[in-house]
Amino acid sequence: MASISIRNLTKRYGNFTVIPDLNLEIADQEFVVFVGPSGCGKSTLLRIIAGLEPISSGDLYIGDTRVNGVQAAQRDIAMVFQDYALYPHMRVYDNMSFALELRGTPKAEIDARVKRAAALLHIEPYLDRKPKELSGGQRQRVAMGRAIVRNPKAFLFDEPLSNLDAKLRGQVRAEIKALSQELKTTMVFVTHDQIEAMTMADRIVVLQSGTIQQYDTPEAVYERP
Ligand code: ADP
Ligand code: ADP
Repeated sequence: MASISIRNLTKRYGNFTVIPDLNLEIADQEFVVFVGPSGCGKSTLLRIIAGLEPISSGDLYIGDTRVNGVQAAQRDIAMVFQDYALYPHMRVYDNMSFALELRGTPKAEIDARVKRAAALLHIEPYLDRKPKELSGGQRQRVAMGRAIVRNPKAFLFDEPLSNLDAKLRGQVRAEIKALSQELKTTMVFVTHDQIEAMTMADRIVVLQSGTIQQYDTPEAVYERP
């Protein structure tokens, strides 16, 4: 539970400026969707917020804390990837508990958090299975479960539904939206899909060449002329 504040942020790769002087305020518990053409900087921005990519200049705040230079693991932010990034040799339960074990969270606490997340996501029957024994939709739920057990202040989703078929995409989309309301966390969601953006977002950020073209409600962004 935290706001995300990006102030005068510039990101360069060598001589190439991906993001020039960007300012963006995401409110606590807001569901924000980033849209824009391929290469406009959506993933880069998400990775910067997560702490997976350093910034060239500017400031990033999570809540009241300036996190420039703070390691990803210390940011209390969870990222869910398109390819799920599950550990193939571990059971679902261990995929979800692993990060907490590394942190030294007590076993009983880990167990309670894994079971609560599994219940929220309807994956309790699969806790003893390996990822390869699951369908795409179930794997995506495990990836979300692994994020949820960390009790993060914000969730970042990088096109999490692109590997699912159309029917399942609609279902998981509705589940993520419901989860955001249940968990009361800030959500940043990257997609190419206009329907996803319209149905999930409180506000949509339209990016073009690392610049914000629009930051407004779905109704305003997709208004018919
Ligand atoms: P999007 O997610 O909107 O498709 P990205 O954030 O992945 O866009 O990429 C934005 C731009 O930055 C692209 O032009 C891409 O080629 C470039 N880029 C991304 N990562 C790197 C990198 N590690 N080194 C150099 N250029 C990169
Ligand atoms: P997939 O085949 O990709 O896993 P399913 O729709 O089959 O997707 O979901 C897997 C299991 O989770 C099913 O048993 C389904 O009934 C259950 N499930 C999925 N979503 C929900 C939900 N929102 N409420 C209750 N059960 C659900």
